[in-house]
Amino acid sequence: MEQNKELNQIDIPLAKRIYINNSNSILFKKLLIFSPFLLLLFSYAALRLIKNIEQTPFMNLNFQAEKNQDNRILGHLPYAEIPKEKLVLIEPNIEVHIDMRDSLLNMKKEARKDGIYLVFLSGYRSINLQKEIFYSLKSFRNQEAAERARVSAPPGYSEHSTGFAIDIGDATQRETDFETEFENTDAFKWLIKNAAKFHFKLSFTKDNKYIDYEPWHWRYEGSIEALKVFESSNRKS
Ligand SMILES: [Zn+2]
Repeated sequence: MEQNKELNQIDIPLAKRIYINNSNSILFKKLLIFSPFLLLLFSYAALRLIKNIEQTPFMNLNFQAEKNQDNRILGHLPYAEIPKEKLVLIEPNIEVHIDMRDSLLNMKKEARKDGIYLVFLSGYRSINLQKEIFYSLKSFRNQEAAERARVSAPPGYSEHSTGFAIDIGDATQRETDFETEFENTDAFKWLIKNAAKFHFKLSFTKDNKYIDYEPWHWRYEGSIEALKVFESSNRKS
């Protein structure tokens, strides 16, 4: 009652008073109506801001640096070890990825028809075996890791651990096994002419800037899995 008295004493007509009292709720209603549009506007502004941040030169530099860093160690790219169930034994001590078995054996057979005798020297090598090779030979030859890496991959960085790499020799000239002179053998000449038909490619060519020339080392690129494995290497070379 006291309050009503006070209200009645205020010198404002009732209609106007109602209008003043309701003004806040009308503003609220207007905000409610426009809120979806405001939300859209806000989202758009936020998206633009994020895009601008991504496009600043600073971020570009970082991204570029990341792209240039292909995780090489002493010139070698990292390779995961093939799951055991994908390995097959093709002859004593030579295991390869099941995807390349047929192609590899076919290549050997076709070469023989041309009077060329290919011999497989090394196929799959576990990361542990690679560790032994890399470190024992390093100390044996008294070479520093960087020198050693020109002729042998550090463990975890060998194409041999993927099961898609094969070292090949000439059965009639075994003295050229793992030697640059292998390039003068009939086997190598035959491979240069025919290996691509069987999806094999020389990994470390003469113009390779990281690793010494290895005419005996071939890799298989005849399946999607193999292509994925060597995608990084093919992109960079
Ligand atoms: Zn090799």
